[in-house]
Amino acid sequence: MKVTILGCGTATGVPMIGCHCQVCSSTNPRNRRTRSSILVQRQGRNILIDTSPDLWAQAIKVGLDRLDAVIFTHSHADHLHGIDELRSFNFIQHLETIPCYANDETLKRIREGFSYLFSSNQASPYARPRIELRRIDDKPFGLFGGKVTPLPVRHGPYTVFGYRFGNMAYVTDASSIPVDTMERMAGLDLLIIGALRQEPHPKHFSIDQAAGIIDRLKPRNALLTHMSHKIDYDNTHLPRGVDLAYDGLVVEFGEEQE
Ligand SMILES: [Zn+2]
Ligand SMILES: [Zn+2]
Ligand SMILES: [Zn+2]
Repeated sequence: MKVTILGCGTATGVPMIGCHCQVCSSTNPRNRRTRSSILVQRQGRNILIDTSPDLWAQAIKVGLDRLDAVIFTHSHADHLHGIDELRSFNFIQHLETIPCYANDETLKRIREGFSYLFSSNQASPYARPRIELRRIDDKPFGLFGGKVTPLPVRHGPYTVFGYRFGNMAYVTDASSIPVDTMERMAGLDLLIIGALRQEPHPKHFSIDQAAGIIDRLKPRNALLTHMSHKIDYDNTHLPRGVDLAYDGLVVEFGEEQE
């Protein structure tokens, strides 16, 4: 299996509009972070986690030309508002409907915020994305012959989902992880975990807090994602075995040992 970091930036993206700080002015392409999303490739299938507002640019950058499913972590704009870009995949996939998996809260927000997707009076079949919403809860579910394990985590006052595929776990927006979820994250090859900046934040882990989780779980490798402009790719002290993600990074990982 393979994971591609499509985007590893926080909600504003990096650079931030109008900011002239060292990171926002950096010439290192690894300091340019689109909004957080990953692509998981398993058994020839392409599974997208979240539809970031940068989905168009991300798909073009990595040459993504097919989507078999989308799984949402939560309904915040930086994870959802690129949903209309799914239309382009419908075009190239002969109007095939794309299954979109999400929990009740996220499904509700999709139906409310993007009601045109479900309107019955459409002039053209090409006028809107053709998706099929599929409800999930916190139980593992099957997808294309493999297992996907939801990882409920606290994101400030909200509960949102991370996901485990094989020996890789992706937890993007989190400020604490319940014990039950920590147990679902044992024996990882790769943990991709959100870390906003050095300073604490009520809804996101800081670098030190993410490092604390990594230290307890001891994955073989760990990558930080959902980063703000306060994290400089060229100049950030990290514990051993922890690296900063960057847009376009591809990592292979193994199946889970049952
Ligand atoms: Zn976010
Ligand atoms: Zn900045
Ligand atoms: Zn969020």
